[in-house]
Amino acid sequence: MRALVIGGAGYIGSVVSKHLLEAGHRVTVADDMSKGHDWAVPDDAEFRAVDVRDQEALAEVVAEGFDAVLHFAALSLVGESVTEPVRYFKTNVGGSLNLLDAMRAGGCRRLVFSSTAAVYGEPEAIPIPESAPTRPTNPYGASKIAVDMAIGYEAAASGLGAVSLRYFNVAGASGRQGELHDPETHLIPSVLKVALGEGDAVRIFGTDYPTPDGTAIRDYIHVDDLARAHLLALEATVEPGHRIFNLGNGTGFSVREVVDTARLVTGCQIPAVESPRRPGDPPVLVASSDRIRAELGWVPQKPALEDMVSDAWQWMRVHGRAAALQD
Ligand code: UDP
Repeated sequence: MRALVIGGAGYIGSVVSKHLLEAGHRVTVADDMSKGHDWAVPDDAEFRAVDVRDQEALAEVVAEGFDAVLHFAALSLVGESVTEPVRYFKTNVGGSLNLLDAMRAGGCRRLVFSSTAAVYGEPEAIPIPESAPTRPTNPYGASKIAVDMAIGYEAAASGLGAVSLRYFNVAGASGRQGELHDPETHLIPSVLKVALGEGDAVRIFGTDYPTPDGTAIRDYIHVDDLARAHLLALEATVEPGHRIFNLGNGTGFSVREVVDTARLVTGCQIPAVESPRRPGDPPVLVASSDRIRAELGWVPQKPALEDMVSDAWQWMRVHGRAAALQD
């Protein structure tokens, strides 16, 4: 299959591109490089520089003729979305609408979209099924539910075959591809940076949540397991219509548990300081992954938090510094 991976120079998009190539697909990565990295783009992928907000440029790339598009390009920081909501809607919603237009015009009928657990806001029940009400508590989640809805209507109108994958917290690394953001806001890389001596202490955002140890609980999924789910989703897009799957392990870990696991894996002390809650953060997000297991046959191969932290740690030590220097 000839696949267009939009946002394929970023953390998740690059790992999925690698898996697609390994499975024998042809891959073209499109990225505006605002968050992506040259080193992350797999050697065997073609590359197009394009910003999803540029309707004409995007349409030109899509018109080259692809069997499917995997769309990762988005702004994804909850805190930033709270302070800059319009920028989030312009890129995440505007960019996706440009893509849907370009796909219809270019005759491309298969789409896999990166959605998020943030669409559920503060869930009524844990683990969260796909049928849970979508009430995002921040502009990031709101921008993603807007796109999920647009895809649903477009699929009904045009016969598009689409899958939205609602990611929970992605972690770990895959060979040369790993997580490097500037600034880094995600928990696991932030903790590991302290272990590497970059920063004095990790901040624990909120210790007064209604959880057993008072810190927020998230469902972490290994990036390789996430990538495997994308390949299954891609196969499922052969059928017209829009399907939505949560993508997590079904197990939650608190911020303190993550810090403790990182101490174990690295053998470093990793000082932690208690800080106020971060705006927009829900207390608990844990996926029910029953649907993707039952319908697509997805089975995670690396569900242990220790494996995710350990893979991220290995990557940071082997590739991290060199990768940061190349940027
Ligand atoms: N978090 C934290 N300290 C940090 C970064 C994150 O306590 O330096 C918390 C954050 O408030 C959330 C959890 O860790 O409860 C996971 O945050 P992350 O940014 O990794 O992912 P998110 O759940 O926001 O997508």
